Order: sequence, then C-alpha cells, then structure tokens
Amino acid sequence: MKDAASLDTDDALGYLRKRFQLPTDTVYLDGNSLGVLPAAVPARLAQLLRDEWGQDLISSWNRHDWIGMPITVGEKIAGLLGAGSGQVICCDSISVNLFKLLTTALQLRPGRTVLLSEEGNFPTDLYLTQGISDLLGTARCSVRSVPPEQLITAMAEDVAVLMLTQVNFRDGSLHNMQALTRAAHDRGILVLWDLAHSAGVLPIELDAWEVDMAVGCGYKFLNGGPGAPAFVYLASRHQNQVAQPLCGWLGHAQPFAFEPGYRPAAGVQRYLAGTPGILGMAALDTALDCFAGVSMSALRAKSLALSGYFIDSLQAELHGGVLQLLTPRDAARRGSQVALSHPHAWGVSQALIAAGVIVDFREPDVVRFGFAPLYNSFSDVAFALDRLRHILATEAYRDARFSERPRVT
Ligand SMILES: *Cc1c(COP(=O)(O)O)cnc(C)c1O
Repeated sequence: MKDAASLDTDDALGYLRKRFQLPTDTVYLDGNSLGVLPAAVPARLAQLLRDEWGQDLISSWNRHDWIGMPITVGEKIAGLLGAGSGQVICCDSISVNLFKLLTTALQLRPGRTVLLSEEGNFPTDLYLTQGISDLLGTARCSVRSVPPEQLITAMAEDVAVLMLTQVNFRDGSLHNMQALTRAAHDRGILVLWDLAHSAGVLPIELDAWEVDMAVGCGYKFLNGGPGAPAFVYLASRHQNQVAQPLCGWLGHAQPFAFEPGYRPAAGVQRYLAGTPGILGMAALDTALDCFAGVSMSALRAKSLALSGYFIDSLQAELHGGVLQLLTPRDAARRGSQVALSHPHAWGVSQALIAAGVIVDFREPDVVRFGFAPLYNSFSDVAFALDRLRHILATEAYRDARFSERPRVT
C-alpha cells in the first residue's frame, strides 16, 4: 500500500484544504457531525455585523437581500444535489422540515395513512413520525418502522410516504436511493430522503432519480457552523397543491400585506415559516463557496479513497474480533464515515480525542470516523490509525480519565 505522504502528493483535491481554518495540533474526523470553519466565514460575519446589522440595520432586509437568502442559499445547495432551480429552500432544522414535508406527503396521498421508515433511522426522524401520528390520530396517520431488509414488503397500499436516511448515522451504510425510490413509486408511494450525511459528500441526482422530497443539514458536510439552517427539497411537480401546517407569515403569498387569513406563497417559498436567522444563513452561504469548481464525483472518489485507506490499514486490528467494522467494506455501500465497534468504545473515543484525533461515540459501542474530502488528508488518516493502534495495544481506553460522560457525546 502507498504511504500517506505520497497519496497526499497525488491528491488532485489537496488544494481545497486551504479553504478551511483547521484546528491546530489536531486531526479532525468529525465533519459528519460538525464541519470545520471555512476560512472565509469570519470575515463575512465581521462585515455583516459591522456594515449590515451595525449600519444599515433594518434596510438590510432589502438592501442586502436578507429576505431572499432562504431562496438564494437554497439554490446554492440545489447545485450540490442535482436539483433544478425553484425546488430547494434553506430554513429551520431537519426536525422542523420533516414535519412540514411528512404532513405534505399525507395530503398528497389522501386515503393512505402510513408513514414508513426503518427502525435504525436517526431518532429525530422517527420521533417526528410519532408526533404527527399522535397529533392526527391513527385513523389518519400511523407509523410503520421495519428492518431495512423488510422495506420492500412493507410497501403496502396504505403507505403514503417512505422516509429514509440515505447514509445511516450509526454504521455508515448507504441505501440505494435510486432503486428504493423506484420501488416506492411502483407502489404509488412518495419518497422523502434525509440527506443529513449525504449533502456535500455524495453525488446525488434528486431530479433525475425523481425523488419527491428531501431534507438535509447545513452544519455537517456543508460546514455551515453549529446549528446552521437546514434545507427542504420539494419537486416542482408536487408544488402548489397543498399547504403545509407550519404556515407562518414568511410562507404567505404577501407577508407584508398583513392579511388576517393565510394564503400560501407559490412554490417552495411556502415551506418557510418564520424569520430566518441571518447570521447562521450568511455563514452557510459563504461556506458553500468552498465547493466552487469541485465536482461531486471527484469528492466521492476521494472520500472512498480516505475511508478505504483507513479500513484496509486496519486488517490486523480487526482480525481478533474485539474491534469490529460495522460499515460495509463494499465501497458502493458506504457513505463518508467508518464506524467501529469495541466493548470500550467510549474509552477508545475519549483516548483518541486526548491524543489529538477528534472522533465521536454513538450508543451503545460505536466509534465514528468521519472523512471530509474537502479538507481531510491521507496523512490525517495515517495519524488517526497510528493513535488508534497505540490505544488498542496499550489499553489506554481503560484510564479512569475517560469514564465521564458529558451532555453531548
Ligand atoms: C444530524 C441529523 C439530523 C439533525 O436534525 P436537526 O433537526 O437539524 O438537528 C437529522 N437527521 C439525521 C439523519 C441526522 O444525521
């Protein structure tokens, strides 16, 4: 196997690392949870604070087009998702956006009452389906969650929408979005894809694959910063047919007419509810420029090269069966993170962090290594491998320092 330094020399995307302000003395492998700070963001926020908020104040809604940002930022995101214009809006969180879209799907498929998902989906996605069912009552909405291998058989005539996350947050496995979308459509079922771990690392063709709806995250591989706004995709063919129940004033046809009754705006604009957080949106807007001139297929190739290098280098450690690879070895079946299980996974993750390798832990026994092809290098991976081997060999994970659990893991 080639060494990391020569892989970095041959890396055609290596120049992109300069677009980020990476932490010093640290290898950061958690971009799947919170992307790093893009180098251009501090200046953009400083300028916004000084000139726009500081001087132009309320006139900035028009003068600096703050009011248009959910759409303009949405259009930038659309470019990364294979989505034509007029279908993506940047707003709120994934959780809130799931509420808007799941209730839209129920209205678009009258007579069908089931929200279908998989048991291992990200909890917030499942919580939202439960909340909607509780709100509407089971006569109008019920939830069916099945293991992934039962999805096809669970696609019965009562299913309104299939909601799945393309890359599983725990084990990093990747669904075949195109095939599952087609299978659902063959049965009259709409699809809603959660792209939290996909946007910015996987080549996605929402329009070409005829996806109906999608949501995704601004703060993971899009590097928009902590709590950055999320996004909604709704295919043009489904627009303007139904209203969505979080019908706030900025989704009104004429917010500044201040009419007592709600009239939804045309297009994807009606998926906006309240006033957008401009500071967070501006950071995301600037962060998206890090993708300028980069093809998603080149990013995907590098992502797989990084994770492949990591997996291939761990053969000896994986041999004993204590450390296990949860992520599929088949490149076509994995996203941009690798999950390892270990009986002392919490201690392993904390020992790695203490050694300068930022990873994260997921219940019950998983250590996740995220590979962000925009800024991670093969040398980063080599350093992480070296630290991991050392921790496993010395059993440093047993250290009492690594037993405490904070609120966020
Ligand atoms: C990170 C993540 C979320 C986050 O949801 P928010 O409401 O934006 O906090 C949702 N779904 C999946 C699959 C995720 O990985």
